[in-house]
Amino acid sequence: MLGGTFDPVHLGHLRSAVELHEALSLDRVHMVPAAMPPLRGEPRISPAERLTLLRLGIGDTPGLLADPRELEREGPSYSADTLASLREQYGREARLVMALGHDAFLRLADWHEPERLFALAHVVVIDRPDHESALPPALRELLAGREVGGVETLMARPAGGLLRLRLPSRMAISATEVRRRLAAGRSVRYLLPEAVEAHILSRGLYRHG
Ligand code: ATP
Repeated sequence: MLGGTFDPVHLGHLRSAVELHEALSLDRVHMVPAAMPPLRGEPRISPAERLTLLRLGIGDTPGLLADPRELEREGPSYSADTLASLREQYGREARLVMALGHDAFLRLADWHEPERLFALAHVVVIDRPDHESALPPALRELLAGREVGGVETLMARPAGGLLRLRLPSRMAISATEVRRRLAAGRSVRYLLPEAVEAHILSRGLYRHG
């Protein structure tokens, strides 16, 4: 699972998803837009629009899936609930991975039921070139004894481990910068898939900052 606001989806998300799929030999990567992200402000566009952009961005990419399950639930979009639903779908033995960028990882101890996340899945942290800082003490406590050194060790069990991954194409792209550029009428070419850019421009999304 690679969850996010995807406001909008960009090539940093999509390239990370493809490389994650390869690096961990995953069957598939569920990209799950949050309907109501609990720890940040209201997204700029609706959940349905963000899902549409995600679908356009993924296109026919093998192994990637736009997963609407958080849009079908009421209330805040807790990842623990999403992982529980994936666990139910794939069964007790399946290896489940929750992947997230380093910036999101830094706040993991503040998430809803952080221990339950590890009971349900492994956590894989993706390096981001523009986000590098030390771990807060509550996070270090949560992670104690969970970190493993490589993919094989991680994937020997269905859940509970932590792996930090440096993917080959680390991209310094953020949705914040994409929104800023769109609001200023500047180019977003090559930051987003062409179909996502075309849809945003034709609907006039993110035009006013
Ligand atoms: P914003 O700038 O609005 O905070 P974002 O670009 O960080 O957005 P999110 O939708 O919040 O995008 O991110 C979803 C997940 O993808 C998070 O775990 C985030 O860390 C990760 N992510 C986002 N951009 C990148 C990137 N360029 N490389 C690797 N991971 C990324």
